[in-house]
Amino acid sequence: MELDTYFYNHILGGVYGQALGDAWAMPAYFRPDQTWAYFNNDWINTLAPAPPDHPVHAGFQAGQITDDTQQALALAQVIITEGQITVEGAARAIVAWYEQLDGDVPYVGPSTRRAVAALKSGGDPYQTGLRGDTNGGAMRISPIGLIHPGNPEAAVEDAVIACTPTHFTDLAVSGACAVAAAVAQALTPDTTLEDIIDIAIRGADYGRQHGTPWLGASVARKIDYAVQLAGDANLSAYDRLLNLYDLIGSTLSPADAVPCAFGVLAMANGSPVETAIYAAALSGDADTVGAMACAIAGAWHGIESIPADHIETLNRANPAYDFAEFAKGLHHIAQNNYQATDQPHDDLFEAPL
Ligand SMILES: [Mg+2]
Repeated sequence: MELDTYFYNHILGGVYGQALGDAWAMPAYFRPDQTWAYFNNDWINTLAPAPPDHPVHAGFQAGQITDDTQQALALAQVIITEGQITVEGAARAIVAWYEQLDGDVPYVGPSTRRAVAALKSGGDPYQTGLRGDTNGGAMRISPIGLIHPGNPEAAVEDAVIACTPTHFTDLAVSGACAVAAAVAQALTPDTTLEDIIDIAIRGADYGRQHGTPWLGASVARKIDYAVQLAGDANLSAYDRLLNLYDLIGSTLSPADAVPCAFGVLAMANGSPVETAIYAAALSGDADTVGAMACAIAGAWHGIESIPADHIETLNRANPAYDFAEFAKGLHHIAQNNYQATDQPHDDLFEAPL
């Protein structure tokens, strides 16, 4: 296959992967046992509507995406229109997303809510994100990886820019850089899961050197720990998920949610549907974990790895979004970026940290 076709198929896989993981895990409850009980003591095996008593997503239909993918596509739109990401563009993207909402919905995250309020009243986008310490930067970062196929170094540099207006603590930047680096690496033909995880860990370390110094666990070390827990051959899949939930944490913190994403990705060996099933069963901030993990999975295995009936459900449930158009636009930027680099840029990660 031509490299260009390969990149398009895998960028499309990344866009649909993000949507798939987000929508698949959207009906999950806060705790794994609650999700397990509601879904008849079984895995959530398909795209399902939110339970009517769901604390955040009640009323959502099967396949409907949440803020994670909406914000990722808002970021993608700015990149497609402007050809690159800037701090000002990232600020415009998040404000544009917020203004499309139907009033003050319960699922706007705390850092984004605070930053949008400041930006709307004229705040400086270099200042509005200085206290952003939750996982919103990471949950919407996949387009940054998708425009840098095979170039995680460029992806982490752009991830820092994308985080600036809302999530500019070292903790949040670290989480976003891990995901952006992983997505960029996942687009590399013949790459392995080991490579993707290794690059993610390096990305997390790079990101931790940017943004406001903050308190928080190491995203990099917890990715490594989560992947170890995910691979414990002595335990059932459900018990490994319980370990991820109890020992890593499926919470709003980037140091919890991002490592969990790599845990479920590893458990599923990067199959998008299986990754989504595990993210949903994990519960907690499941849609964010699923969105991040499945964006990486889809970028790695390509659009052919996502069954057509799920693609149709996602298209039907989200008529406001033309996912393929977003992939085409991102692919165009990715082509420009790829042609501008004639050799792999791994010097950034090779330098002593
Ligand atoms: Mg969400």
